[in-house]
Amino acid sequence: MKIGIVGCAGRMGRMLIAEVLATDGCSLAGGTEQPGSPALGQDVAALTGAEPAGLPVGADTDDLFAASDVVIDFTVPAAAPVHAAAAMRHGVALVVGTTGFVAVQQAALEAAAAETAVVQAANMSVGVNLLLGLTRQVAGILDPGYDIEIVEMHHRHKVDAPSGTALALGEAAADGRGVDLATVSQRVRDGHTGARRTGDIGFATLRGGDLAGEHTVVFAADGERVELTHKASSRAVFARGAVRAALWTEGRAPGLYSMRDVLGFD
Ligand code: NAD
Repeated sequence: MKIGIVGCAGRMGRMLIAEVLATDGCSLAGGTEQPGSPALGQDVAALTGAEPAGLPVGADTDDLFAASDVVIDFTVPAAAPVHAAAAMRHGVALVVGTTGFVAVQQAALEAAAAETAVVQAANMSVGVNLLLGLTRQVAGILDPGYDIEIVEMHHRHKVDAPSGTALALGEAAADGRGVDLATVSQRVRDGHTGARRTGDIGFATLRGGDLAGEHTVVFAADGERVELTHKASSRAVFARGAVRAALWTEGRAPGLYSMRDVLGFD
């Protein structure tokens, strides 16, 4: 599998290059960056300190998709429709780790999934995908007397909040309870909020330092509390999951898939 990396000079982009180079069964097709990036023209592999691969970082999306079997996107939400359209044009599979999409950007990914295999996950780590399943299960067992709060902390550079993973955990909890997250979600509390509504799912966001990402789902009742926690100590876990997803797309029918599909979790 020839794997292309869009946004290859980003924090995750560099991790992805290193992971592709270290993984059997795939090779690096190249990488792009946005116009004006200082990485343009530099060797893609050398961005990670590896031996140069003779592949300069380019700005042409079509060139990269034409050279790839699958492309991995950890960029910005605004770039997704461009990458989704290129995936459709070239019949190339797409793995999307980018988070923070608005509806029209998400719709562009779904349109691409009608034509090619698209794997999208707000978190590509095995552990978080296990946490999603456990959250759904526990929320289905405990009654609404257990208040659900989702607490997350990430590095100071993260630009969206709550994290895509926190929102996915909220969806999993709402799904387990058989409710619609949009009607019960409390994403911000400030000032005189009044007492907590029974059945709400609350979010709290912390930012600082270089944390790769921590998520806790709290189920709090009178007299006891259950907490499910995942802590990522290296971004490499996301890159490993993304490359695993990229390899999984080989020969896959068009469709929008999740890491649950890739990992085979029920
Ligand atoms: P970053 O800012 O370090 O990297 C993004 C890169 O994309 C930058 O180098 C930027 O120049 C480049 N870029 C922007 N527009 C582009 C375009 N049109 N074409 C090519 N390149 C373009 O950010 P990051 O920390 O690497 O995170 C990227 C995204 O991945 C965020 O949305 C983040 O939330 C998400 N993320 C997801 C997971 C997961 O497991 N799904 C894990 C970590 C981060």
